Order: sequence, then structure tokens, then C-alpha cells
Amino acid sequence: MIVAKRKPFEEIKNLLKDYKKVLNVGCGTCVAVCLVGGEKEVDVLNAELDMARKLEDNPIELGACTVERQCDREYLAELDDKVKDYDAVLSMACGVGVQFLAERFPDIPVFPAVDTSGLAVNQAVGWYEERCRSCSSCVLGLTGGICPVTMCAKGLYNGPCGGTNNGSCEVDIDQPCAWYMIYERLQRQGRLDVIKQLHQAVEWQNQVPRTLIQPGYKKPEE
Ligand code: SF4
Ligand code: SF4
Repeated sequence: MIVAKRKPFEEIKNLLKDYKKVLNVGCGTCVAVCLVGGEKEVDVLNAELDMARKLEDNPIELGACTVERQCDREYLAELDDKVKDYDAVLSMACGVGVQFLAERFPDIPVFPAVDTSGLAVNQAVGWYEERCRSCSSCVLGLTGGICPVTMCAKGLYNGPCGGTNNGSCEVDIDQPCAWYMIYERLQRQGRLDVIKQLHQAVEWQNQVPRTLIQPGYKKPEE
């Protein structure tokens, strides 16, 4: 899932300092699961903002609404009537949700309340570990299911580099070397020959915004 963390309170407060009526929009999917941008977090942030602005003698009127998903047009429709009553929107969704809201309501500013951190697994409550950077050229089949883009400090497709040190990465002794792990995983599976397959230079596809259309949904002429 996509994981995120709430922006520092002062940063959010500063983004909204010139606005008197703000609709805080939560998202009921990834950011709700990772405890940063669901219905409860919207209410908590609104309470903090309300109190802080009262203390500054600059009161703010805050609305709250959490949609199923901010990255899905059909769920944004319910905001159409609400948004016109506000002079700004605060989004607690990931960067995709914020952008989709800003695109739908181009006449008013839409501000992010969270920092999107990546695609991660849930290790325990409130503990998430990044596992994918959406590179669009997945090599997990050749790397024993360990992502070298995310786990290797240099994102190497052919590793390890000269900095590998008894299983640790040169950037941090506590950070396992991705390619050491890949070697061990492939060895365990009796597939070490795979590591010798030199990966071609990567044509990075995540440098420009990408569009994904699942094959069954493509138009016939495409
Ligand atoms: S190689 Fe890594 S970053 Fe690329 S798609 Fe696979 S898991 Fe994601
Ligand atoms: S030591 Fe390992 S994880 Fe660190 S940069 Fe080199 S190959 Fe990547």
C-alpha cells in the first residue's frame, strides 16, 4: 500500500494561515490503513488547527469529509457541492489524491497535509517498510523477490558494489546489503546462476508521469 506521514503541524498551519474556511478531506484507503489520513486523523488535525488558530486570535472554520479514495473520480463527485463553500481544501491523501483534487477544483487552492513516503508493507501496527519504488521494470524474478531499486542504496541492477561489507551496505552498517541478501536468497533456492545474468542498462520509466491501462480495458484501435 501507499504509506505517508503527517506533515509537521507548523507546516500545515502555515499553509493555511491566509484562509478562513477550509475543508479537510481524508481518504479512506491506504492513508487510513497506515493511520495518517483517514476519518479519525481528519478530526484530530481539525481539532489541533482549530485550537491553534483560536490561540492566535485568527479563528478558522474547518469542514471534514473522508471519501473512499481520492485517486478515484467517482468518489470525488460527492465533494462537488461541498467544496464551493470553502476557500481552500486540505487533503490528507497521498500525493496522487492531492493532485486529483487540485485538478478537479482548479479554482481553489488544495494543500497537502501529509508527506507521501512510498509503497510499503505493514510489519506491525504503525510500522511500515518500503518495498517498491514503482520502477515499471520489475526484476524480482531475477533477484529472489528482493527489490534492488528500493533495498540497494544505489539502486543497482548488477550488484553488489565494492562497498558491500560482510552483509552490510557501505552507507550504514545497520542496513543490509541488498545484493548480499539477493545472493543468499538465490543460493538457498539453488538459483545462483541467475545472478550471473547481466542486467541490461535500465531504461528508467519513472522519470515522466506514466499511464497504466490494463489490457482488457484498452480501446480496440490501440
Ligand atoms: S524492481 Fe523493485 S521498484 Fe521495480 S517494480 Fe519491482 S519491486 Fe518495484
Ligand atoms: S553495498 Fe550493497 S546495498 Fe549498498 S550500495 Fe553496494 S550493492 Fe547496494
